[in-house]
Amino acid sequence: MKTITMKFGGTSVGSVQAITNVCQIVQETTAQGHRVVVVVSAMSGVTDSLIQSIQLAVKGDKWGYLSISQKMRDRHEEAINDLLPPSAEREAVLSAINKLFDQHVELCQAVCILREATPRIEDAIVSFGERLSSKIVAAALRQHRINAKPLDAAHYLLTDESYQNAQPLWDETQLRIERHLLPMLDSDLIPVITGFIGATADGAYTTLGRGGSDYSAAIFAAYLRSDEFIIWTDVDGVMTTDPRIDKRARVLPYVSYQEVGELAFYGAKVLHPKTIQPIINLGIPIYVRNTFNPSHPGTLIGEETQPSMTVIKAVTCIRNISMLTISGRGMLGVPGIAGRAFTATARAGASILMISQSSSEQSVCFTVVGNQAETVKQAVEDELIVEINRQNIESVDVSAHVVILTVVGAGMRGTPGVAGRVFTVMGEGGVNVLAIAQGSSECSISFVVDEADMKRAVVALHDLALEAVPN
Ligand code: ADP
Ligand code: ASP
Ligand code: MG
Repeated sequence: MKTITMKFGGTSVGSVQAITNVCQIVQETTAQGHRVVVVVSAMSGVTDSLIQSIQLAVKGDKWGYLSISQKMRDRHEEAINDLLPPSAEREAVLSAINKLFDQHVELCQAVCILREATPRIEDAIVSFGERLSSKIVAAALRQHRINAKPLDAAHYLLTDESYQNAQPLWDETQLRIERHLLPMLDSDLIPVITGFIGATADGAYTTLGRGGSDYSAAIFAAYLRSDEFIIWTDVDGVMTTDPRIDKRARVLPYVSYQEVGELAFYGAKVLHPKTIQPIINLGIPIYVRNTFNPSHPGTLIGEETQPSMTVIKAVTCIRNISMLTISGRGMLGVPGIAGRAFTATARAGASILMISQSSSEQSVCFTVVGNQAETVKQAVEDELIVEINRQNIESVDVSAHVVILTVVGAGMRGTPGVAGRVFTVMGEGGVNVLAIAQGSSECSISFVVDEADMKRAVVALHDLALEAVPN
């Protein structure tokens, strides 16, 4: 008997048909004698709608947020009515759902009156999505004669107070999961846990960042000592590139933890970048599979780096990026300029996604999310004001509308000439590379190119990855 933790994403719980597939998948797994833990996302689009409701409330648009709340209420009620026959159970679930929507309206009202949403209130509002879906999925499972129980992760997943991007408090989280959840598995109960959310020590809801259900599911998978962790989503597995950018994308049968870490960090939305963190030391195999095509074996993610015929396994991209370039002849030999610029960037609240420095040290460039570029530029200029006045630094320039493309593959380590090959391909495709950097793990190389060149560049690089993936 194995313990299998399964995470179902937004689309996988986004419709009656999808939830029915979920029930079949869980049923088949339990019928094989395995213990199952379910972690769910909000129904697709619900998190976005909740965020929108906050924005409307801040603007004082009462009818706006009321209408969004009503639409969501209707959608959830409809799903319950379709999934459950008229019964006391159906009434109980409807009543629980309606209570949550009443609270949603109340919180929006408070925001509307104050015309301000604190991060703490925002997370409380956004938490409704998963709290709603877990109740529906658990009820649907019970309908399939599975002893399922909706559980609120706020009771188990303890975090710090960095709302919207909360960091788990590992020891306390482990203690709570082992003490309160683990015994449940022995009593034949299938927990249906809310993904994405946790709580502070004083019980305020927090969220782990957009797409964070993968991450919370990984935490539960780890502390519940799972033998397998399956991420059920809406594509057949981890693919050679985003299928929405290049339709030729193929499923990779196997990728290593390290490779998938790079893929996720550099934009492959299929997995939250932190997902492998709780798993990696335990060596739990992760599968990425399709709720809508469960007979497909999907992608296995594991410890080994398997040699691949192509050195490049996959291509990812991050859009809406700006690149800052600090340049000046006088930078040569002035120590610490890059360090101070990065510290100033951090103080401005921005994360750096990629850094590249020319060997002559006459310029340093780094990328940040597009809408933070002007704030960062200001912060860097303030920090380096002395050097700018002395003309050691000539300029801090922003190139907006650029993208980061990354090619990933563990086989790059020790394979000379990969960057050269990539440059040739880009040159042949007429793509101008603005900056290049190699990941510290040596299993990725990233490039900055103009947004206008993105599609052409991805297709050209993708050719390299497709060379050896079976059809
Ligand atoms: P979920 O709601 O199940 O968490 P997401 O929308 O977060 O699903 O992630 C799945 C989506 O990620 C896919 O529909 C696909 O469009 C996108 N995606 C981007 N890059 C990749 C990739 N390399 N492999 C697979 N899917 C990818
Ligand atoms: N519902 C959350 C989001 O849309 C978390 C997730 O789906 O993983 O970001
Ligand atoms: Mg996701």
